[in-house]
Order: sequence, then structure tokens, then C-alpha cells
Amino acid sequence: MYVTRLAPSPTGALHLGNARTFLLAWLRARAAGGRVILRVEDLDHPKVKPAAVAEIYADLRWLGLDWDEGDDCPTGNAPYAQSKRLPLYREALTKLRGDLYPCVCSRADIENAQLAPHAGEELFYPNTCRDKKIPPAQINDKTAWRFIAPAGEREFIDNFRGRERADLQQFSGDFVVARGATPAYQLACVVDDAAMGVTEVIRGDDLALSTFRQLALYDALNLSPPQFLHLPLLVGADGRRLAKRHGDTRLATLRQAGISPQKVVGYLARISGLSAGQPATPAALIAGFDLAKIPRGAVTVADANGGFFL
Ligand code: GLU
Repeated sequence: MYVTRLAPSPTGALHLGNARTFLLAWLRARAAGGRVILRVEDLDHPKVKPAAVAEIYADLRWLGLDWDEGDDCPTGNAPYAQSKRLPLYREALTKLRGDLYPCVCSRADIENAQLAPHAGEELFYPNTCRDKKIPPAQINDKTAWRFIAPAGEREFIDNFRGRERADLQQFSGDFVVARGATPAYQLACVVDDAAMGVTEVIRGDDLALSTFRQLALYDALNLSPPQFLHLPLLVGADGRRLAKRHGDTRLATLRQAGISPQKVVGYLARISGLSAGQPATPAALIAGFDLAKIPRGAVTVADANGGFFL
């Protein structure tokens, strides 16, 4: 049985870029006759905004997406908010204990330690603290715990991008799996995708490199990984990931402006190669869904003046 998940972070309102990834993930699952899980990734304090959870539910429903499992329709996999799943992550951290060490480097330390300018947002960590004996008095509830990443190339087949190869020790170094007692995204994501029986992870390609971190954790925890599918992002005229500077593409704003969800879905379907752009419900697009039609590169959806092309 095909199972995927929508995994929004309630750090702000959903915008057109999130909507497009979720629509395509939902279509892929529905076209396969599979299940959709709604998981709320709310571990990233203090950025998490409690009110955002209700807004995300409202935005997804407004678009016409539904799900088979979530906190509003729980099954055996409940709960679905990561903040309620801490014991599972702690258990995994205990299993990884022999491969973890505390790191007392500040972000500035790590920035200063860059060997070469790194593209994008990936910061290389030169394993500075791996062999240090950090005195227990220096370890507190903010201390980062790093996982000793395996060296050597690893490969996976991305169901959209094809063969991906990378060596964690070349682009990342040892990576953070917890801060104090709070698990980090990489760990929580692996534990949940495995526990929830996800068969294919669909997300934006800003997370494609993170897949190598997650695969290392699947191996270390003796879990079998799902398949992965990374979609190109929506970008502004400057080629950068859709953000506030490109205009207000929040779904709540579009809704308040009186734009219909069918118009938004039709637009997202057009830029995804799935229709000519006529207003549509997600359900009406299931029959015509075809991964091969989705453009391979980033899609520009905003002009240089803060206007977007809806
Ligand atoms: N919560 C992440 C986000 O909103 C998605 C993580 C994932 O799909 O693995 O960007």
C-alpha cells in the first residue's frame, strides 16, 4: 500500500510553494490509490506558532486536500504532532548514543571554519568537537548533539531527480540530531516516517541533501528507508525560493482576497504541467496526474515587482 505524508511546519502560514508540494504529493498518493498522513512538524521552538496549526488545517481543507490520518482522524499511528511524540525520539537517541557527541561550537564558530564558500544554506561542519572531551559542566539544555556521519559516497534513486550521490563528510560533516533534550528535524523525520509506514517521502528539493543524513540514520537505527521524491521549488524572478519579498502568496491572503481555491489549484496544476490552468478541484486532477509532465526545474511564479502570476 502506498503511503505518503504532508509534513508542514507550523512556523508560519502556508504559501503557494507549500501548496504546490502538498497538492502534488496528494495527487501522487491518490493516483496510486494510497494513503495520506498529515503530520505536524512542531519541534522547531521558538519559531513554532501555535495558531499556525489550525490555519494549516484550514488552508489545506480550503484547497480541497484531505488526509486519511491526522490528529483530527487518528489511527494506530497517533499522535501526529511531533511535540507529542518525544518518547519515540528519545528512544532512538538512546540507540544512537555510541555515535553521538556534544558540540559546543556556535554558529559563528562554524561559519568561520568553512573551508570554502558553500552553495546554498548548507554549512559544512569540520567535526571540531568530535574528539574533544567537553566537560559535563559545559553541557546544558541547548547543547547540540551530533551524529558521527559515515564517510564515503552513498547513493539513492530519487523518484523525480534520478540517481543522487553524495558523501556526507564532504558536504556536511557530523550533523545535529538533538539540542539538549529536543530532537532535531533529521531524527524526528526518520523516526516518524519509519513508524508511520511511509513508503514515499515527497518534499521540496531544498531537502534533497538532507536525505543523505536521514539515510545514515535509517542505517544506524536498523530501519529500512522509504523511497524519496524531491520536487523543484517555486521561485521569484531572482531565482530564489519563494519568500515574503516576492509578494504575499499566503493562501490565507488569497482566500481573503476572494480568490477561489479552484483558481489556485488550476494555477498550480498549470505550472506543474498537469492542465491548461482552468479552475479545478484537486480531485478532478487525479486521473490526469503524471509525474513525467512536471517541469524538471524550478518554476518562476513572481515578477521583480512583488507581483505573482496567479
Ligand atoms: N516540515 C518540513 C517543512 O515544512 C518538511 C519536512 C519533510 O517533508 O521532510 O519544510
